[in-house]
Amino acid sequence: MTTRCAVLGYPVEHSRSPAMQNAAFDALGLDWSYEAIAVEPERFSEVVRDLAERGYAGANVTIPHKLRALELADVVSDVARAVGAANTLSFEAGSVTAHNTDVEGFLGALAEAVPEGPRGMRSLVLGAGGAARAVVHALLSEQAGIVEVWNRHPARARALVADFEPRKGSATLRAVPDPQASLADLIVNATSVGMAPHEPLEPSDLSDFKELRISADDLGDRQAIVDLVYRDGDTVLVRKARARGLRCVDGLDVLVHQGAASFELWTGRSAPLEAMRNGARDRKRPR
Ligand code: NAP
Repeated sequence: MTTRCAVLGYPVEHSRSPAMQNAAFDALGLDWSYEAIAVEPERFSEVVRDLAERGYAGANVTIPHKLRALELADVVSDVARAVGAANTLSFEAGSVTAHNTDVEGFLGALAEAVPEGPRGMRSLVLGAGGAARAVVHALLSEQAGIVEVWNRHPARARALVADFEPRKGSATLRAVPDPQASLADLIVNATSVGMAPHEPLEPSDLSDFKELRISADDLGDRQAIVDLVYRDGDTVLVRKARARGLRCVDGLDVLVHQGAASFELWTGRSAPLEAMRNGARDRKRPR
């Protein structure tokens, strides 16, 4: 009998996870399948319990359910608890366990482009939502030197910093009212800016940067950029950064690594990264 998994979001049509996870199942010859299910916030708990009862192996969880996923779980992993959000659920005998593989996804993708890792680096995180929390947790766990957090609504950046303050170790962790991108070794876009398909792709158009309060002139050739946003074609940030020769991690790189970690939790098998990368980049793959 086919084992089933799903991604739950609202909206969820844009998700590359079904193409990516089905490519992984096919590559290993597993009789598993993965689907996207649009779930309104008020139905989320009911749908999760129903999937667990019906024998699904697990689910990924995306906007806007990551906090609720943590709250409803019977068991919560240490990382999900530390981040304060869950992006992966696993089901066993009707019991729901919450995990956060965004942390592993970010670090795995970063390691491919920046093998020396974030240790000692001055990093600037744009955003203070669930993704930013995973990134800050990852940077602190890898002993980044300075972690600055900027957010459009500054109170949310201050709240994030206050939450992580007790766990910052020897790092300097601070909320900043204006991002000083030119001083950062590593810039991470963890906002949803650049996500909408109608946003301009013309290299001359810097509108995305304006929303992030940074400019292309802030990008120097020794920096590395991570943009968690993925879309058809590069985001303006990634395009500009690539044009300047910077080391770049795009949202699909991170998606593949977080998806690989979820795959391994559910199946207990090593994830076929190349098949997942191809599946995510070619989302028209049928299933
Ligand atoms: P979220 O909790 O809703 O947070 C959204 C963030 O974006 C907030 O910091 C918000 O700022 C900011 N933002 C939204 N519109 C903005 C604008 N016009 N100008 C400036 N800032 C704006 O969402 P999330 O879960 O953190 O996800 C953030 C992004 O990361 C999404 O695009 C998501 O798809 C992506 N993501 C990708 C992966 C991956 O695997 N590639 C994994 C996780 C997340 P305010 O607080 O001021 O509203």
